[in-house]
Amino acid sequence: MSEKTVTVRSVESVGPDTVAITLESPDSFDAKPGQFVQLLLDVDGEEHARHYTISSARVEETFEITVGIDPEGTVGPTLAELERGDEVRVKGPFGRNHYEGEESVTLVVGGPGVGPAVGIAERVIQEGGDVAVVYRDDAHAHVDRLGAVADAGGSVFLVGGDLDPAVDAAVEAVGGQVFVYGFAEFLEDALDALDEAGADTDAAKIENFG
Ligand SMILES: Cc1cc2nc3c(=O)[nH]c(=O)nc-3n(C[C@H](O)[C@H](O)[C@H](O)COP(=O)(O)OP(=O)(O)OC[C@H]3O[C@@H](n4cnc5c(N)ncnc54)[C@H](O)[C@@H]3O)c2cc1C
Repeated sequence: MSEKTVTVRSVESVGPDTVAITLESPDSFDAKPGQFVQLLLDVDGEEHARHYTISSARVEETFEITVGIDPEGTVGPTLAELERGDEVRVKGPFGRNHYEGEESVTLVVGGPGVGPAVGIAERVIQEGGDVAVVYRDDAHAHVDRLGAVADAGGSVFLVGGDLDPAVDAAVEAVGGQVFVYGFAEFLEDALDALDEAGADTDAAKIENFG
């Protein structure tokens, strides 16, 4: 997709150092939950490109991204300061490791991987499927939406350290198509835990945040 300029609808704190940014969807924007966009931002007179994964269940009219903010990061603090009415440049959607209507879905995510986890989990519930979410972080974000997923019948595990017990329980409860989202170190831990639990990691849909 060529570059489009889109307007910010809202920026909301959804946890410690984490914001959900809702953007007006470009014309004919047909992103699937779990796909990502590239944002182009000017910071101190220099252009920077960063990728962010869609965290809304749907993208008609608006779509949402969830950004984990490192106060020392190059682009994150600028994104946290966006306000309704600001404009950002966006390209995409990109990525093949997205939700495609699978009936049973297990998501194992770390840090900002919570974004695609909530978006996909909500969509699976809307479609009448079964979903499990294992989410590891020092301090968890999107707890309200994950609580609603649990209330709707999803299995949700918020983890601070060892992934193994929660991944075991998620694979046992739901299994099915596995999705893994997060930074590289987390992906290694997640795939080890999934292998231990007997999940099909060869077929897993994985997105490496860097
Ligand atoms: C396909 C893809 C999808 C992504 N989706 C998201 C998303 O949905 N939400 C989101 O917040 N980010 C996502 N990212 C990461 C995002 O693009 C930026 O890298 C991140 O926001 C940091 O940018 P920055 O300019 O603030 O920090 P930079 O100055 O570029 O980088 C420094 C900071 O990035 C973080 N970081 C970089 N590498 C690692 C690592 N290996 N382990 C842990 N932390 C690391 C740390 O906070 C670090 O201090 C995605 C990346 C990719 C490639």
